[in-house]
Amino acid sequence: MNQYTKKNKLIIFLMSLIIMITLFLSTKQILSRGQEITALINKGAFIDISSKINDKILLLESIANLKYIKDESIPIQERALSLRPFQEKYDFLMIALMDKDGNTSSSLEGGLADLSDRAYFQKVKKTKQNVISDVIISRTTGEENIVIVHPILDINDDFNGAVFISIRLTDLINLKNTYGASSQGYTTTILDDEMNVIAGDFKANFLQLKDDLISCEPTGVFFKKRNGDLHFIAFNKKHLSNWYIITDLNISKYFFGTWASTLIIIFVFTILFLMIFKSFDINKKIEIQPLLDSLNQDYLSGVYNRKYLEDYIKNYFKKESLKSFKSAFIILDIDNFKAINDELGHTTGDYVIRESADKIKDIFYDNSVISRIGGDEFIIFVESIDNEKTVINKIKTLLTLMNTTYGRNEKNIVISASIGITFIGDEYYNFINLYNEADSALYKAKKAGKNCAYVSNEIDNQLIKVNKNSI
Ligand code: GH3
Ligand code: MG
Repeated sequence: MNQYTKKNKLIIFLMSLIIMITLFLSTKQILSRGQEITALINKGAFIDISSKINDKILLLESIANLKYIKDESIPIQERALSLRPFQEKYDFLMIALMDKDGNTSSSLEGGLADLSDRAYFQKVKKTKQNVISDVIISRTTGEENIVIVHPILDINDDFNGAVFISIRLTDLINLKNTYGASSQGYTTTILDDEMNVIAGDFKANFLQLKDDLISCEPTGVFFKKRNGDLHFIAFNKKHLSNWYIITDLNISKYFFGTWASTLIIIFVFTILFLMIFKSFDINKKIEIQPLLDSLNQDYLSGVYNRKYLEDYIKNYFKKESLKSFKSAFIILDIDNFKAINDELGHTTGDYVIRESADKIKDIFYDNSVISRIGGDEFIIFVESIDNEKTVINKIKTLLTLMNTTYGRNEKNIVISASIGITFIGDEYYNFINLYNEADSALYKAKKAGKNCAYVSNEIDNQLIKVNKNSI
């Protein structure tokens, strides 16, 4: 039992530890998600995303306008190298230069294969407008990029070369991750000015957002409900040929992926904990039950002891519903028991007590509380009797059964039982009243020569003899 308790304690300790850790992590998660959604709702996140993108574009413009970038007397590679500090500062930009003849600072191309055919360069040269590429896969890193080609114009607005800036799509799409958001419930999509998807969620249809996007301020943010879910949208169109970035937050998915899953984890752990706790409780009950039973039992015969019977009778008379039934209080004392002890020894005496208890149990098997109240004396309390005759018949059978010979060879001891009975009607009794009543009947039985029963008649106080032979 000790080992068992130790095991229980260990399990409780481990469970508590798991719950504490889960609660700690969940709380941390909830707090960070809370901050995140607060940032989103305050629009701060999107304004920041937009301004970050804007920063890069402004940088691109200012690079294109730098005097030495336009200085044809300096070799293109040298001019490109002077851009390195920008690249280091804005780590997701890749910057390359081309002169007006299309010569490139190849070392800075970043492995973007499509740049080598110079299609974008030709377009920029022709239109003198900036051009945004399709998604280009980097030869060296295998990453998806978008390249913005910006013209370098001289004072007379003549074409003088181009600045190539490539931006990794994952960097753009993951801009939201700056706010610690998981990918739960988010999609980010980049659209061109005709609402074609350049990168991100190719399945979604954003046409219905076209009017909102066009009419919004540059680097604006707006919130719109779509299919019952809230969509947080950030975009920039001023410098990127009407290039829109849409972050789509599916609130219900977001909620399930963050808060709800956390709450479910807490709920499941709580239920598990309660179940385990409850099972410990049941185990305790199982452990204690034999102890409680032994407090009510007579250790020798296995029937109830006097204390149990007294309590039982006290409670019995408290039950209103049972008052309409009769009950019987029966005392049985073994005749000549002392001789068993004296002639055959105490061990045989104990055996006779146990066997007598078994005989009583065999006959009074229902509606009865059987107890040994000391020595060779038993009390049988029979409740809810509908017919006294049934009890009397049982007593007669018991008298026959109890009449037994014990011993070996010449040492034969014959025992029997003397019984005192009192029937109870709808009056209130306590144990002592009943005992005295039945005991006086028992005394009569002993006096009448033993091996018989007497009924104490409560009405006229007569004693009725029950003899086994009168069956
Ligand atoms: P009577 O016929 O008048 O009932 O007399 P009796 O010989 O049965 O003796 P009585 O009822 O007066 O005494 C019962 C004896 O039972 C006295 C005691 O030594 C013995 N006794 C009491 N408890 C135990 C027990 O647990 N085991 C054994 N073996 N004997 C016990
Ligand atoms: Mg006796």
